Amino acid sequence: LVREDIRNIAIIAHVDHGKTSLVDCMLKQSGIFRDNEEVGERILDSGDLERERGITILAKNTAIEYNGVKINIVDTPGHADFGGEVERVLKMVNSVLLVVDAFEGPMPQTRFVLHKALELNLKPIVVINKIDRPDARPHEVLDEIFDLFVELDASDEQLDFPVVYASAKEGIAKMELDDNSSDIRPLLDTIVRHVEPPVGDPDAPLQMMVSTIEPDEYVGRIAVGRIERGRINYGQRVAVCRKDGSISYAKIGRLYSYKGLKRIEIKESLLGDIVAVSGIEDINIGETICDDQNPEALPFVEIEEPTMSMTFSANNSPFAGTEGEYFTSRHLRDRLYREIQTNLSLKVEETDSPDAFKVSGRGELHLSVLIETMRREGYEFQVSRPEVIYREINGVKYEPMEQLIIDVPEEYMGAVMEKLGPRKAEMLNMHNMNNGYVRMEFKIPSRGLIGYKSEFMTDTKGNGIMHHIFMDYEPYKGDIPTRQRGSLVAFEDGETTVYGLYNAQERGTLFIGPGVKVYQGMVVGENLRSDDMDINVCKKKHMTNMRSSTADEALRLVPYKEMSLEQCMEFIGDDELIEVTPKNIRMRKRVLK
Ligand code: GDP
Repeated sequence: LVREDIRNIAIIAHVDHGKTSLVDCMLKQSGIFRDNEEVGERILDSGDLERERGITILAKNTAIEYNGVKINIVDTPGHADFGGEVERVLKMVNSVLLVVDAFEGPMPQTRFVLHKALELNLKPIVVINKIDRPDARPHEVLDEIFDLFVELDASDEQLDFPVVYASAKEGIAKMELDDNSSDIRPLLDTIVRHVEPPVGDPDAPLQMMVSTIEPDEYVGRIAVGRIERGRINYGQRVAVCRKDGSISYAKIGRLYSYKGLKRIEIKESLLGDIVAVSGIEDINIGETICDDQNPEALPFVEIEEPTMSMTFSANNSPFAGTEGEYFTSRHLRDRLYREIQTNLSLKVEETDSPDAFKVSGRGELHLSVLIETMRREGYEFQVSRPEVIYREINGVKYEPMEQLIIDVPEEYMGAVMEKLGPRKAEMLNMHNMNNGYVRMEFKIPSRGLIGYKSEFMTDTKGNGIMHHIFMDYEPYKGDIPTRQRGSLVAFEDGETTVYGLYNAQERGTLFIGPGVKVYQGMVVGENLRSDDMDINVCKKKHMTNMRSSTADEALRLVPYKEMSLEQCMEFIGDDELIEVTPKNIRMRKRVLK
C-alpha cells in the first residue's frame, strides 16, 4: 500500500530563522483553523529555555491537512550534543525541510542534523525564508547552502534539491523570486509533490519503533513513533521488543494521532502514520511495539557516547533551601535518574560521596540545559567545571573537537584570534558579511572552549556572537597554557554586582553562585559557579534572592572591570578572598598570596 494520503517530514532550522512562523502560517492557511480561531500558542517551540538557549530540546509533532493529504511535521533537536535523538526522529520521515534565513545563511547548529539527514539518504527541500528582509541575499545564501551540501557529501540526487523562497511574515511562498504569490501554497504543494509517501503492508504484523516519549500527567508515558507496517488499535495486546533482546507484553491504552498542534484520540491507525500510544508504562525510546503473535524488533539506533562530564552535588551550604524546594541528595538523585529515562545520551554515575553524582552528556550545552531546567524547577545543587571525556584508541589519546563559528565586527578580529590561538583553535574559514561583520570558522578542542565565552564577550564588548558544536574526536592537541591566577573581576551597574575570579589552574572566570553573600563590596560564602554555564547576578537589594542568568546576559547587563590581585586584595580584604578548586566549585576560604 502506498499511503498517498500521508507525508512525513522533519523540519531543520537554526533558531530564529522562522521555523515556528512558517509552521504557524501553514497551519493557518491549510484551513485547519476556523477563521476566528487563533493559532495562539506556539507549541512547536514553546519552552522559554529553548528559546533563550537557541535550541529545541525535544522533538514535537504537528500535522497539517492539505488537499486531502496529512502532512506530519516533526521538529528536530537543533543540537548535535543530544546524541542519537536526531537519528531516531529522522527515521520517522521521508524528507526534511531545511529552513534558512535569507540574510544569515546556513548556521552550524543545523549542519549536524542536515548531515544526518543526508547520510540517511533523505532528499531535503530547502526553504529560504525572510525574503522580505531588506538585507536579504537569497542568491548568495542559496550558494552557501549548495556549498554546505557538497561539503557534507550530498549525492547528486540530493544536490538537486527543490528550493522554495518564503516570507513566513507575509505568509507567502514561491518557486522563483520574481513569481507573484499571495499564499503559502507553493510550499505545501512542493511538500506533497516532492516527499515520498510511506509505503508498506497494512496486513503484515505490526511494527512501530518508539522515537520519542512524551510524559503525560494523566495517562503516563506516551510513546510516539511511525507505524512501519501493519495496523494498531486502541486496547490491542502488543509485544514490546526491548533493548536487551527480551520481550514483554502490554495492552495499548489510548491511541492518538496529530491534528494541527494537538494530539487527538483515534481508534485505529495503519502503516505510515505517526501516532502516539499510552498504556505501556515502562516503554523506552528505541524499543519496538509489535504484533503479539509475531514480535520482530526494528534495528536499535545507537546512542552516541557523552563527550563531557560534570559533578552535581547537593547543596549543603547554610543558605540552602532559601530559594529552592529541592536540595537534598535524594531529591537530586531522583531527579537525575528520572532524566535519563528520556534523555538517552545522558549518563549518571554515583561517586565516592553520597551527595555527588557524575553527569555526562554531549557537550557543555547539553549539560547546561539540564542544569538550568532543574534550577528552574527549584532544585538546588552545585556543579563542577566541565571536564572533557578522552578516548584511548590503540594507545593514542583522543579528545573531542568542536566547530566554532564566530561573527564579530572587523575591529575585534585580532583580539579574538589572539585568545583562540593558545587555546589550540585552527581556522578553517573566514569571510566578510556585508554588514561590517566577519565570520570566522574554527576547529577547536572542546577543552579550549571552557571558560572562553566570557572572555569573548569581554573582548568584543558584547558585540560578538559565537556558536559551537561537537564535531568529532581527534588526537590530543597538547597542553593549553593557563591564565594568571587570582584576578578578581567585578561587574557592576550601581545596583547589580557580579564578582568573578580568574582561576589559577583552569582558564576562565568563575562567578559567585547561590549561597554567597555580598555586603559592603565583599564576597563571602562557599559557592562559586563556573562561567559559560550560568552566572548569578547578586542584587544588593535582595542579597539572598539571587536569580541566575546566562553569562552573556550578565555581561551585556553590566559593565565590568578587571583588577589585579593587589587591587582586589585591597578591594575585598585579605580574609574574604577565596580560592577556587578546579575539580569542584565548592570553595576553600583561604587567602590567596
Ligand atoms: P524559530 O526560532 O525558527 O521558530 O523562528 P520564529 O518563527 O520564532 O521567528 C523568529 C523571528 O523572525 C520572529 O521575530 C519572527 O517574527 C521573524 N520572522 C519569521 N519569519 C519571518 C519572515 O519571513 N520575514 C521576517 N522579516 N521576519 C520573520
